[in-house]
Amino acid sequence: MREAQELHEATEEYCASPLEDNLFEWHFTVQGPPSTDFEGGVYHGRILLPPEYPMKPPNIILLTPNGRFEINKKICLSISGHHPETWRPSWSIRTALLALIAFMPTPGNGTIGSLEISKEKRQKLAKKSLSWQCDTCGKIVDLLSKNTVKKPITEEEQTMLNTIALKADDSPTSDTAVNAESNAENELRQRNVDSTPTENQDRQQSDVIINQQVETMSSSNDLFWSILIASLVSAIILLVLRRLFLV
Ligand SMILES: [Zn+2]
Repeated sequence: MREAQELHEATEEYCASPLEDNLFEWHFTVQGPPSTDFEGGVYHGRILLPPEYPMKPPNIILLTPNGRFEINKKICLSISGHHPETWRPSWSIRTALLALIAFMPTPGNGTIGSLEISKEKRQKLAKKSLSWQCDTCGKIVDLLSKNTVKKPITEEEQTMLNTIALKADDSPTSDTAVNAESNAENELRQRNVDSTPTENQDRQQSDVIINQQVETMSSSNDLFWSILIASLVSAIILLVLRRLFLV
C-alpha cells in the first residue's frame, strides 16, 4: 500500500500507520498547530477506512482529550465520512490529517463531534496530552519525529486547506458569512423540504395511475359482462321469435 509507505516516515506534524492485523484501521498522531490553543499538544486517534476507500472518505476518531473534538466519536470534518460529498478519491490519509490539523483551531459551530471549551482548558489538555498513552501504540509523544523536514504541501492539498480556511472564516464574528452560510443551509433544507412533497406527489401520481388501471380493468370487466348478457338475451329472444314464427 503506497500510503503506508508514504506515511511511515514520521514528520513533526503527523504520522500514521495501519494496525498490524487490520489495514482498514490506522492510528495517527498529530502535532497541535502552532500559535493556537493546541500548540505543544500531541493528539492521537484512529482512522477507519471504509471498504470503498479511496472512493469514500475515511472516518476520523480522536482518542486524546483535546477540547476541540469529542473523543471516541467519529468527528465531522467537511472532508470526512460525515460529508462524503466533499471527498475526492485523489485525496489520501495525509490529506485527512492535514485537514484535521487545519480544523483544530476553527470554531466548532455545533457540528458533530465538536466541543466548545475555554482556551485555558484546551491549553491544559495540550500539556496533559504529552503524557497520554495509546493502548496499542504506547506513549504518543515518541511517535512524532523531532527533526524531519516537513513534506511540502501540494497544490491540491493547498486548495483543500483553503476551503477549510474559508470555512473557518464563517465564524460568528462575521455576520454576513454566517448569514450566507445559514442562507445556504436554509436553501438546502428548503430543497430537502421541497423534495419530500415531490416524492409524495410522485407516490400519489403512481397511486392514481394504479387506481386508474384498476378502474379500467373493472370497467372492461363490466363491459365484457354486459356484452355477454346482451348477447345471451338477444339469443334467447331470437330463439323465442323463431319458435313463434315457425310454428
Ligand atoms: Zn494508537
